[in-house]
Amino acid sequence: MAGAVAYRDGVGRPLPVVAAYRLRDGVYLNLTNRCTLRCSFCPKFHGLWTVADARLRLRVMDEPSSAVLVQAALDAGPCAEYVFCGLGEPTTRWSELLLVAAALRPTGTPIRLNTDGLASLVHGRDVVPEIAGLIDHVSISLNAADEATYDRLCRPGRPGSFAAMLAFAARCRTYIPRVTLTAIAGLPGVDIDACARIARDLGVDFRARPLEATDGRSFRVR
Ligand code: SF4
Repeated sequence: MAGAVAYRDGVGRPLPVVAAYRLRDGVYLNLTNRCTLRCSFCPKFHGLWTVADARLRLRVMDEPSSAVLVQAALDAGPCAEYVFCGLGEPTTRWSELLLVAAALRPTGTPIRLNTDGLASLVHGRDVVPEIAGLIDHVSISLNAADEATYDRLCRPGRPGSFAAMLAFAARCRTYIPRVTLTAIAGLPGVDIDACARIARDLGVDFRARPLEATDGRSFRVR
């Protein structure tokens, strides 16, 4: 954890910017709160900004630099993996993501990217080759087995997001050692078996995530 003061708590005490936080056996990197989607189930849209006791709220002006992110990751000590994942879409800050991954690469610790899979759509080019050799595992939020359900749950800002996400997953399969599609079991209208079939047909892994509170105040979203 490092950085400037972003928000104040209920009695006016300053809250530090959290650049890195521990969750299970990983060190997670909090790049941004900005998102391409507006998922109806996202905790931040329900006023919940805390994951594993880490307050992840960030103003754009307080987003940590790549240097701060790398130092925070290293300061967190040994871990099983580094994970790009906060309450926002890490690929929004594509350049910083590449810098941080390259800086952490020499540690030998595996690096995972949790993403909505829309980076190529947002950045207007096929970005997947740019993370080849930097990212070991890409976990992509599939969230639904069809576009209508995806649009209802994830409320994408750009047309064609569902197809773009699937195309991104297919490209990752070519360049990244491990690719996982995920969906949340228990969300109304989500056909988990059909989601698993999509992953199988793409030749990637699938993981059904529970929709659950992790500490009574926050929800696991990725
Ligand atoms: S669930 Fe993830 S992708 Fe969806 S709005 Fe929240 S942070 Fe963004």
